[in-house]
Amino acid sequence: MESQQNISTPNTQAKLVVLGAGESGVGAAYLAQQKGFDVFVSDFGPIADKYKAQLKQWNIRFEEQQHTEAEILAATEVVKSPGIPEKAPIIKKLREQKTPVISEIEFAGRYTEAKMICITGSNGKTTTTSLTYHILKNAGLNVGLAGNIGNSFAYQVATESFDHYVLEISSFMLDDMYEFKADIAVLLNITPDHLDRYDYKLENYAASKFRITQNQTEHDYFIYCADDAETLKGLQSRTFGAQLLPFSIEKEIHPGAYLENDNIVINIHQEHFTMSIKDLALQGKHNIYNSMASGIVAKVLELRNESMRESMGNFKNIEHRLEFVAKISGISFINDSKATNVNSTWYALESMTSDVVLILGGVDKGNDYGMLKDLVKQKVKAIVCLGKDNKRIHDAFEDDVEVIVNTFSAQEAAQIAFHLAKKGDTVLLSPACASFDLFKNYEDRGQQFKDAVREL
Ligand code: ADP
Repeated sequence: MESQQNISTPNTQAKLVVLGAGESGVGAAYLAQQKGFDVFVSDFGPIADKYKAQLKQWNIRFEEQQHTEAEILAATEVVKSPGIPEKAPIIKKLREQKTPVISEIEFAGRYTEAKMICITGSNGKTTTTSLTYHILKNAGLNVGLAGNIGNSFAYQVATESFDHYVLEISSFMLDDMYEFKADIAVLLNITPDHLDRYDYKLENYAASKFRITQNQTEHDYFIYCADDAETLKGLQSRTFGAQLLPFSIEKEIHPGAYLENDNIVINIHQEHFTMSIKDLALQGKHNIYNSMASGIVAKVLELRNESMRESMGNFKNIEHRLEFVAKISGISFINDSKATNVNSTWYALESMTSDVVLILGGVDKGNDYGMLKDLVKQKVKAIVCLGKDNKRIHDAFEDDVEVIVNTFSAQEAAQIAFHLAKKGDTVLLSPACASFDLFKNYEDRGQQFKDAVREL
């Protein structure tokens, strides 16, 4: 346990306490110090060495594996890491005494004039944020990438001078955002996830997602999926200040984006953008949605069609999302380890064009496997379970798939899947579950799977 208390500060200074010393917390602490706050960082768990080194280097006071209540409750304002739940005792106490608790994005947003492009949704956030950034950057904009990706937004606000930011925003971050405004807000979809943090009520989770539109005016834009049932339900009970730009692959939309004869059409300016879905770098139905959302952002910013087409065609997908690993003896191996809920596995299966050996399992967050049944019947010849407790998967699919086997390591799963597959088949790791039973995180699971495949 370590703590540093080596700076004396005048009492008149506003006191900012940062709870949680991860990427966002440490970035917020740095920015706050630059702006003249008396800053104190407190983490109830251990702080990673990298972040401790940064806090020391910047002379920011911190503590780990404890919360010194007297110090925290004396804060003028608290920046809370999105991982800390409302039910944490220290948060309850702060709420009781009405200390403002905000997210790092809310805090850092006060110190930049850049245009904010904010992307949220249950699935597809990282993909769409990265693709949008790629399109904007290739078009020559002075743009930063932040939120749940890479260096914290706050640190970049302190050290860079971007004109635009593309931010990936989770519902936990949105819960602590109040004055912040997105110039362009994107809501990809709403499907059940993280309900443990929302009293197990989908409407609470949806309300959190819709906060992406708060404070927007007629000069701003709200981009959403017109095929998503929960989004449509949420739209009915709300009013929006922004201009609405929906996208759909089921119906024609004006203004917005839609699909016509396998071409994406974006029609928000006189000159329409069109692109064949065959030329998109990201394949699969879910990626048509993601590409449409990114494309609308680009058109709102009046980027050239030629440059957009080039970027949407040459984008390299990020790791662990339907990532092609290798073809061995005519069998393709795909790593979709980031699929940690049933909905993302549905989209992964939906995009498969061959027979599939599906690697499924891990920590089941109360999954309803029912929605996978039709696709599993159509495409899956065998299921390889990769988790400590696979009973619910057996129960769900025993009538649909002849072969269901249990494995307990990525290596074992890859080997058995390889034996079960034939030339022309695909082995798909798309687990629909979190990874913490057997792995450190989804990246570790994906990496171990890729290593195992390369050793086959
Ligand atoms: P997030 O950042 O929201 O977790 P990612 O872009 O990392 O989303 O993708 C996570 C998984 O969700 C991917 O493995 C992919 O299969 C699936 N996915 C991506 N985009 C969508 C979408 N628009 N709708 C449903 N599933 C998606």
